[in-house]
Amino acid sequence: MDETARTRIPLCEPCLAGREVEYVRQCVESGWVSSVGSFVDEFERAIAREAGCEFAVATVNGTSALHVSLVALGIGLGDEVLMPSMTFIAPANAVAYVGASPVFVDAGGADWQMDLPQVAEFLRQDCQRTEAGLRNRHTGRRVAAMLPVHILGCGGDMDFLVALAEEFQLPVIEDATESLGARWQGKPLGSFGKVGCFSFNGNKLLTTGGGGMVVTQDEALAKRIRHLTTQAKASAEEYEHDEVGYNYRLTNLQAALGLAQVEQLAVFLQRKREIAQLYRREFANLEGLSWQEPAADMTSAEWLFTIRLREKSGKTARGLRSHLASQGIQSRCLWEPMHLSRPHRHCACLGGEVAEALYSEALSLPCSSGLTESQQRRVIAAVRDFLAN
Ligand SMILES: *Cc1c(COP(=O)(O)O)cnc(C)c1O
Repeated sequence: MDETARTRIPLCEPCLAGREVEYVRQCVESGWVSSVGSFVDEFERAIAREAGCEFAVATVNGTSALHVSLVALGIGLGDEVLMPSMTFIAPANAVAYVGASPVFVDAGGADWQMDLPQVAEFLRQDCQRTEAGLRNRHTGRRVAAMLPVHILGCGGDMDFLVALAEEFQLPVIEDATESLGARWQGKPLGSFGKVGCFSFNGNKLLTTGGGGMVVTQDEALAKRIRHLTTQAKASAEEYEHDEVGYNYRLTNLQAALGLAQVEQLAVFLQRKREIAQLYRREFANLEGLSWQEPAADMTSAEWLFTIRLREKSGKTARGLRSHLASQGIQSRCLWEPMHLSRPHRHCACLGGEVAEALYSEALSLPCSSGLTESQQRRVIAAVRDFLAN
């Protein structure tokens, strides 16, 4: 193994330092490894508590959590859903699965979240209230929901979002997959909408290997979501089903891992915040370099610390990525904006310039919970070195 490979610093790795093995062993020894079991129930309760909601339904991943939420809220063929263009593709795909169309919205503000003033302008000027709900004047389609995606560990102005949702009677599906543990005025993200969705994919704050969760305050909705995730089985004894459902359940084995992970959530969050603070402090005086800035009322989970580098003398975010890679340091650019992505570029988009600028200028830096300070100092030195030379 050469020096670089041996000291490779990954972007964001899971930290499995708690009771993971003990709980997984309990599953194996008891035989309860599949989609029913006490770990599923306990994991659901733990995430509900962390997300400030009464009900939670575990799912096979975050994408299925989003999909089943859209189905349960009656969003379907021909509907339009307002969502940000600057996001990982999963929520846009989920909207397409139900036959609806995303209306993408540019990123705005220093927190890079969905630009709510543009959403408000669209709702006021381009939509019309009818008996059948809100209609887009130009397409004639129903505008059925808002799907904010709380990217990189924090969300936008939740007061603004909730006020818009109330004024226009639009359900909100929060994609909080990247922001477990973040809070707006002390209230957890995921608890502001009709539903909140989480992911426990390998690089998220908590992992179950792969997994997801829907949280809600609405008991009937939670029941309906659970029903849909279990093939809409209508009888406990008989194989009778009352609609087209999905096999979207999380296994007890995965939930065992998840429960061990939730027990470490406070530690992970603390570490993430320390890492972000150190980056901010060390980068404070570097010209041309900024980073995602949450609003004052937002306590970020700091899931993925992301800088923005305005091009200067040929120095770009992608140039920095290559420089870091040459030193065994993994970094990552943000997602191609949805309004440019091949599967979704035929969809409408309000603005888009900020998302495009972020796509070329933003770079996420290593911030695993297990990142050591000396590793982080190596990343900082490499960034400084790139900017100086
Ligand atoms: C991770 C993620 C998801 C869900 O991903 P899964 O891999 O399906 O668990 C959804 N939306 C966003 C923004 C994500 O980052």
